[in-house]
Amino acid sequence: MYDVAVIGGGPGGYVAAIRCAQLGLKTVCIDDREKNGKASLGGTCLNVGCIPSKALLESSELVEKAKSEFASHGISTGEIAFDLSVMQQRKEKIVDAHTNGISFLFRKNKVDSVLGRGRLASKGDPYSIELDSGERIEARHVIIATGSSPRKLEGIPFGKRIVDSSGALSFREVPRRLGIIGAGVIGLEIGSIWNRLGSEVTLIEALTEFLPSADEKISKEALRQFGKQLSIRLGAKVQRVEETDEGVKVRYRDAIGESEALFDRLVIAVGRMPNSKEVADPSLGLEIDARGFIKVNGQCMTNLPNVYAIGDVTGGMMLAHKASEEGIMVAERIAGQKTMLDPDIIPSVIYTRPEIAWVGKTEQQLRAGGVEYRAGQFPFTANGRAQALGEAQGFVKMLVDAKTDRLLGVHIIGPHASELISEAVLAMAFSASSEDLARTIHAHPTLSEALHEAALAADGRALHI
Ligand code: FAD
Ligand code: NAD
Repeated sequence: MYDVAVIGGGPGGYVAAIRCAQLGLKTVCIDDREKNGKASLGGTCLNVGCIPSKALLESSELVEKAKSEFASHGISTGEIAFDLSVMQQRKEKIVDAHTNGISFLFRKNKVDSVLGRGRLASKGDPYSIELDSGERIEARHVIIATGSSPRKLEGIPFGKRIVDSSGALSFREVPRRLGIIGAGVIGLEIGSIWNRLGSEVTLIEALTEFLPSADEKISKEALRQFGKQLSIRLGAKVQRVEETDEGVKVRYRDAIGESEALFDRLVIAVGRMPNSKEVADPSLGLEIDARGFIKVNGQCMTNLPNVYAIGDVTGGMMLAHKASEEGIMVAERIAGQKTMLDPDIIPSVIYTRPEIAWVGKTEQQLRAGGVEYRAGQFPFTANGRAQALGEAQGFVKMLVDAKTDRLLGVHIIGPHASELISEAVLAMAFSASSEDLARTIHAHPTLSEALHEAALAADGRALHI
C-alpha cells in the first residue's frame, strides 16, 4: 500500500511524485506513455511539447542567423544548407536524455514507476486504482495529473497532411506551404520553426484580436514583428478543409472576403482539452466542469477527500511550471505543510523571435479594474548589449501601483525575454516596488539593464532615453 499514487508522469505528476518521496511518503507514479516498449516519463512537456519544440526553435534560429545575420559580422560561409533528419535526431536525443533522466530521478528518490493507464476505481481510505493490465494499486492519497491533449476541430480529422502539434514537430521534410489554424502560442512557435527553415507560413485565427491575453502594447508590437515573418489572418472563420493528393485546401472567410488556400501541410493548434475522461469511475462522483476540467480549490483539492488534481487537467494556465509548482504544493500539503501558490505571479513565455514574456496584470486589466497605475517603458534599441547581440527590437514595460509603487505587471518583448522575466517574478514574489528595482545594481552591459531603466521610467527618471 502506498501513501500517494500519482496518475500521470508529466511535469505536474513526476515533480509531485519526487517531492512526495523526498518528504518520506511511499509513492508510485503511473503513466501510460511509452517509447520502444519502455516508459517515457515527462508527459506532453518532455515528449512532444516544451522540450522538442525548443530544440527545433534553437536549430532553426541558427539556420536563420547563418543565412541572414552572419554577413553583418563579416562572417562568410558560402551557401547555407541543413539536414532536417540530423535536426530531428538531435531533438530526439535531447528528449530521450530528459525522459530517461526522470526514470533515473525516480530510482534515486525511490519512487515506484508503473507503465499503464490508471483509473480511480473505488472510494475511501485507501483508494484503489485499477490499471489497464487489471492490476490494482492501493493508496491513501491520489494526485491526478493526467494533463491534456490537442483539441480537434469537428469534421477535420488528423491524417497524413493534417496534423496536431506533435505531428508538426516531426515533419521529415520542410513543407513548402504550411497552414496553421490558430495563432496562439503553439501556432506562433511552430510557425516560427518552419518559416525559419523555409516554409511559407499562414496562420488562420478566428479572433480579430492578436494574442489577447498579452498586454495590448506587446500584442501590437508582436503583430508588427511577426507580420514580417508569417502571414497572419485575423478574424478568419474556417469554412471547409479538404485533404487532396496535391495538398490541403482550406476555405475561410475574413474581413477581406472569402479565400481558398492550398497547403502542403495543415497544423491544427486551437487549444488543448483535459484528459479527464475515464480517470475516475463515475460512481465516485469526481466533479468535472462543463469543459471537462477537474474542479479544484486553491490548494488543488477535488471534491473527494484526499484526492488532488494538478496541471493541465484542472485548466487555468496550461504551463509546465504551473503544473510542477502545484505538484510541489500538493506533496507538501499531504505531508502536513501549509504551502501556498500565488496564481497571480505565474510567468508566461512565447519562445518566438523576438521572445515575449510577462507576469502579473496587463494594462487593459488594470484599466478595467479601475486600478490607478503608472507605466514605465524602455526600448532595447537604447540597450548596448541588445545592440551588440543584433537584437535591439522590442521593449520592457513595467506597471506599478500609483500610490504604493508596488509592481503590478512586467511585460517584455525582446531578446532573452524568457530569462529576463525571472527577475520580475522574483521582485513580485517579494512584493517589490519599482524603486526597489531602480535601486538594485544591474551589471553592465546586460539586457537586464532594460528592466532597471523601465523601473526608473516608471518614476519619470530613465537615464538612457
Ligand atoms: P502532461 O504533461 O500532459 O502529462 C500527463 C501525462 O499523463 C501524459 O504522459 C499522459 O499520457 C498521462 N496520462 C493521461 N491519462 C492517464 C491515465 N489515465 N493513466 C496514466 N497516465 C495517463 N509549457 C510551458 O510551460 N513551456 C513551454 O515552452 C511549453 N511548450 C509547449 C509546446 C507544445 C507543442 C505543447 C503541446 C505544449 C507546451 N507546453 C509548454 C505546455 C506543457 O506541455 C503542459 O502545460 C504540461 O505538459 C502540463 O503538464 P501536466 O503534468 O499537467 O500534463
Ligand atoms: P492557445 O489557446 O494559445 O491558442 C489557440 C488559438 O486558436 C487561439 O488564438 C484561438 O482563438 C484560436 N482558435 C480556436 N478555435 C479556432 C478556429 N476554429 N479557427 C481559428 N482559430 C481558432 O492554444 P495552443 O496554441 O493550441 O496551445 C495550447 C496550450 O499549450 C496553451 O494553453 C499554452 O499555454 C500551452 N503552450 C505553452 C507554450 C509556452 O509556454 N511557450 C508553448 C506551446 C503551448
